[in-house]
Amino acid sequence: MTSILFRNATVLPMTAEADAPKYFTGWVGIVGNRIERVEAGDAGADEFLAAHPDARLFDCRGKLVMPGLVNTHCHAAMTLQRGYADDIALMEWLNDYIWPFEGRQTADDVALGMTLGIVEMLLGGVTSFVDMYYHEDRCVEVAERMGIRAMLGCNYFDSNIDEVFPQIERAEAAAAGSLRVQIAVAPHSAYTVSPENLLRGRKLADRLGLRMMTHVAETRDEVRIIGERFGCTPVEHLDRLGLLDERLIAAHCVHLTDDDLRTLVERRVVVSHNPQSNMKISSGVAPVERLRKAGACVTVATDGTCSNNDLDMWEELRTASFLQKSYTGDPCALPAYEALRMATVNGARAFGLEGLLGVLRPGALADVVVVDLRKPHLQPVHDLVGNLVYCGKASDVETVVVDGRVVVEKRQIEGIDLERLYADVAAAVERIKRA
Ligand SMILES: [Zn+2]
Repeated sequence: MTSILFRNATVLPMTAEADAPKYFTGWVGIVGNRIERVEAGDAGADEFLAAHPDARLFDCRGKLVMPGLVNTHCHAAMTLQRGYADDIALMEWLNDYIWPFEGRQTADDVALGMTLGIVEMLLGGVTSFVDMYYHEDRCVEVAERMGIRAMLGCNYFDSNIDEVFPQIERAEAAAAGSLRVQIAVAPHSAYTVSPENLLRGRKLADRLGLRMMTHVAETRDEVRIIGERFGCTPVEHLDRLGLLDERLIAAHCVHLTDDDLRTLVERRVVVSHNPQSNMKISSGVAPVERLRKAGACVTVATDGTCSNNDLDMWEELRTASFLQKSYTGDPCALPAYEALRMATVNGARAFGLEGLLGVLRPGALADVVVVDLRKPHLQPVHDLVGNLVYCGKASDVETVVVDGRVVVEKRQIEGIDLERLYADVAAAVERIKRA
C-alpha cells in the first residue's frame, strides 16, 4: 500500500467547532486511501516514517494541509460553452445558444468538456464534485482515469427519459465497484419533468440504491409555473411526491417560503448553494443564512461554466459569504469558517460520506489538498481561515491527493497534456458551432 507524509505543515482538519482553535502546526499521514494519523507537533512523524519507510514525503513549511473541497452542483462538460453566450436573457440564451449547441454535441464531446472541467477543478483543490448532465455513462471512464471523486447525475426531461434510463443502468454497471464514482438519478426540475416521471426516477433510484438531484426553486418563473400547475411551491410539490430526503441534492433553493425552509430542514435535504450562478443569471439570492441557522445542510457549488463562468470554489466561498452579508445587512452573516464547512464537512453529506469526507481525521478518506500560503494576497496571517475564504484562489493549490493518490503535484496534473487538451477542445467547439 502506498503511503504519504505531509510534514511541518499548518493543518486545518475542519473538525473543530466554531469557537475552538481551528488549526495547528503538525503532520498528516496517509496509508492506502485512508488518513491514518493527524497530529500536532512533529514527534509522531518519525514513528510514521519508520512504520512506512516508502512513504512519499512532502515538506509543507509555509503550506497548509486541509480537506479537498466538495463542489455539489456542476455541469462540468459545459466548459465547452464557457463564454459562448454571455449577457443574454434567459430564454434567448437557452433557445438560441445553449440547447442548439448541446443538440450537436456527441458523447465524445461531452467527455472532452468534462475532462477540461475536471482539470480545472483538480488544479483548484476540488477533490469531489457532483455532476448533472447527458452521457454520464461515457464520463464514468473519464472520472475514473483522472482520479477525482465524482457523483455523476444522469439528467433527464420528459422528452428523453426513455433514452436516459438505460444510460443510468449502463453508468451504474460501469461504476459498480468503484470507490470514487457514484451514479445518481437527476430529473432536471419539477417544471420540466412531470410528477409521473419524477416518480419513475425515484423508483429507479430506489431499485439501484442511488441518490437523486434536481434544480429546486431556482427562478421566479419556476415558482410561478409550479404554482399555476399544482397550486403549491416547488418544495411542497416535491415533498408531496415523496422526493425530499437526505438522499436528494436540491440545487439553488433561491425562492423559499418559511414553510419550504422548515420542510428542507425536516427532510434533511442537501441544499446546494450556487451564489455566482444565481448572480450571473439574475435568479435572486438564496436565504442561506436563514437556512443555515434553521439547521439545514447547506453546501456550496459552482454550477456550470455558462452561468459562472469558472469552476473556482474559493471564489464561490467568498461570494457566498459576501452575498449573505450584503443581503441580510449583517456583516456577521455566514462567517468564513462556516462557509468553509459548507464546502467540506457539509459537502460530504451530498455523497453520503459524512465524517469520512471533508475532514482530516484518522479513518477518513484521503482527499487532501496542500495550499501554498507564501503568496502576497495570503500574507500576513492574522486569521488563516479568513485569509483562505476571503483571499484564496484556485491557483494557490499546489498538491492534490484523492483517495490516497497524488493527482496534482507542483500544480501539474498527472497524465494530462494540457496543450493537446486545449487544441482538442478548440477543434471540437469549432466543429459544433459550424454544424
Ligand atoms: Zn444547474
